[in-house]
Amino acid sequence: MARSWLDIPADSGFGLNNLPYGVITYGDSPPQPAVAIGHYAFPLGLAAEAGLFDGVVEEPAAVLTAPTLNPLMSAGPRVWHAVRTRIIDLFESRGHAAAVQPLLLPLPRAKHHLPFAVADYVDFFSSRHHAENLGRIFRPDSEPLLPNWVHLPVGYHGRAGSIVVSGAPITRPHGQRIPPTDTEPVFGPTIRLDVEAEVGFIVGVPTQIGQTVPVDNFSDHVFGVVLVNDWSARDIQAWEYQPLGPFLGKSFATSVSPWVVPLEALTEAHVAPPLQDPPPLPHLAGDHWGFDLRLRIELNGTTVSEPPFSTLYWTPAQQLAHLTSNGSPLRTGDLFASGTVSGPEPAQRGSLIELTWNGSQPLQLADSSTRTFLADGDTVSISAVAPGPGGTRIDFGSVVGTVQSR
Ligand code: CA
Repeated sequence: MARSWLDIPADSGFGLNNLPYGVITYGDSPPQPAVAIGHYAFPLGLAAEAGLFDGVVEEPAAVLTAPTLNPLMSAGPRVWHAVRTRIIDLFESRGHAAAVQPLLLPLPRAKHHLPFAVADYVDFFSSRHHAENLGRIFRPDSEPLLPNWVHLPVGYHGRAGSIVVSGAPITRPHGQRIPPTDTEPVFGPTIRLDVEAEVGFIVGVPTQIGQTVPVDNFSDHVFGVVLVNDWSARDIQAWEYQPLGPFLGKSFATSVSPWVVPLEALTEAHVAPPLQDPPPLPHLAGDHWGFDLRLRIELNGTTVSEPPFSTLYWTPAQQLAHLTSNGSPLRTGDLFASGTVSGPEPAQRGSLIELTWNGSQPLQLADSSTRTFLADGDTVSISAVAPGPGGTRIDFGSVVGTVQSR
């Protein structure tokens, strides 16, 4: 296991094996890329200006001083590996301590920004347990899965412009809904505001229109992974979604975690995906893996669910292959999210509509209050960890949001 001259707690999930990327400011500094390490943020813009990446990448300033990660993301796996290897060297070799230590910033002083400029946003629906739970809730008299579900990763295009970084307040949306005792719609604040615990994958290397990305080429394009809370207004969604899918019940806000965990940090977290029956068509088959991420949802500090991402039926590589199978181009900054992650057990469900079974079984929180859907002032945190090399832990941090009224 890598050792550092920096005092990194042995149980830190931000050790040398992780090195997640974010974009931070502190004081009056301009936004710049940084990595989290131990209790610190290491500002890469300052490090590049100090010459610490000279000879590592061709134009360190262009790649590492931008206000988003996009220039680094578009540079591709060779540059990602070179930068990561250099950062590890800077923290392993004691000779670099004198140059690096003065640049370090205590993590609590770092203000987070959206780490990447979002190009397009796609949301999948790839957890079989989640899809079956919703099927049972909404169509109790028919098969829980629709026929297409086992043949392709169902998804829709979301709204890139309303993706916000963790900590941004979530304003309760207004929209049309059918009141429980009525058949005609009213307009007003949603009364069924929900969360969806998801994992998002960020595209670094773009493609041309007409090009496809086979499952085997996943890591040539995907830069890293974030946690996603796909806030959902269930009453607005239920009234509007047929026949074209989710629209305003989803597009008011989607939160992402501030630290992007590089794909390269997750090699120990690869797991075999669940058996797929029927076997996928050839363009969705190939060499690919699931990820052993353990998610946790906390509502006002009470853990209400621990969804296992390893149970996801359609893997991220299959999602990307499907997304590009018609020749749709990828852009740097594209975000595709897994869909709500739900495991087989009741305490592994990734949304309140499942955890409370459509509001019929309220959750009890630590303060003895109960919830079916979210109240104003509620704070939701979704966090995750994954196994790293040598028994270490890869920490994803958390994506947090507090609900406020409009
Ligand atoms: Ca979703």
